[in-house]
Amino acid sequence: MIIIMRPKVNDAEVNAVIQKLESLGLQANVSRGVERTVIGAIGEDRHLHQPVLKAMPGVSDVVPIVKPYKIVARESHPENTVIDINGILLGGNTIQVIGGPCSVETQPQMDLSAEGVAAAGCRLMRGGAFKPRTSPYAFQGAGLEGLSMFRQAAKAHNLPIVTELMDVRMLDSFLEHGVEVIQVGTRNMQNFDLLKELGKVHVPVILKRGLCATISEWLMSAEYIAAGGNHQIILCERGVRSFETAYRNMLDVTAIPVLKRETHLPVIVDPSHAGGKAWLVPALAKAAIAAGADGLLVEMHPTPCEAWCDADQALTPTELQTLMVELRALANAMGRDL
Ligand code: PEP
Ligand code: MN
Repeated sequence: MIIIMRPKVNDAEVNAVIQKLESLGLQANVSRGVERTVIGAIGEDRHLHQPVLKAMPGVSDVVPIVKPYKIVARESHPENTVIDINGILLGGNTIQVIGGPCSVETQPQMDLSAEGVAAAGCRLMRGGAFKPRTSPYAFQGAGLEGLSMFRQAAKAHNLPIVTELMDVRMLDSFLEHGVEVIQVGTRNMQNFDLLKELGKVHVPVILKRGLCATISEWLMSAEYIAAGGNHQIILCERGVRSFETAYRNMLDVTAIPVLKRETHLPVIVDPSHAGGKAWLVPALAKAAIAAGADGLLVEMHPTPCEAWCDADQALTPTELQTLMVELRALANAMGRDL
């Protein structure tokens, strides 16, 4: 950390900063320039509370030089993390497409969805039993009964299930149902108590990017899970809020290579919630793969126009099948499988 002092700083102010750093077990390296004095804090300064230093007399700015996240940083783990979900590897050379409806509705809807997901060649299935809806009057999800329907449908095709956890009080039920991958939705990316609990379980977690979260904030949220001991984290870019109204969210394709450089964790993309329209999904899915994503989360419904949630963005089973063929060709051209 570098502490930049104000232009006309006096010795007492400089000494106070030095003493503060030393009291925290750090060494202070003072450089006195013609216009400015800067103090380098040497040692493990990740736990240093920046605002405390910034508020000291004579301090102009405090600039961190190490990343605030540690476990999830590629610096600390150069190899890619590959997550094993019942023998299905995510984060390796094979791109995984997680397909399924926005929400669990009925047993026949889930059975048909699972059939469509398997027929398209996807190896994992998605579906929300607990839905974070903007309106309290909208369908809130089928709840625990939905988890059972999901399990039954997925089991027939040997598909591991991916489903969203919104409330930490439901975690035990998720574990009892053997949910293979727990999804943290965009609205809960900074629900730190939820993240801390997910740090204690041995279940892979998909951490979606918050609606307005920076990459650094997102990685700090991943660090919350990792700090508890659970390193099986998959980051999911799902579009961010922007000024544009022509589509639901703005897919941040640039985040993909940035994340691949910053972290060893797998990165997947949700083109469905980014575009918000089924016709946009193939283009965004291809862009994601071309930019280096390790997987996709794609909404598909047996009859999209009858979907209880996110009807506009759901692909039909046939559209998903066609997309998978196109994506496989793209993956192969990039030296990957799908
Ligand atoms: C979802 O995947 O069902 C969902 C609600 O997504 P997000 O949290 O990205 O809005
Ligand atoms: Mn949805």
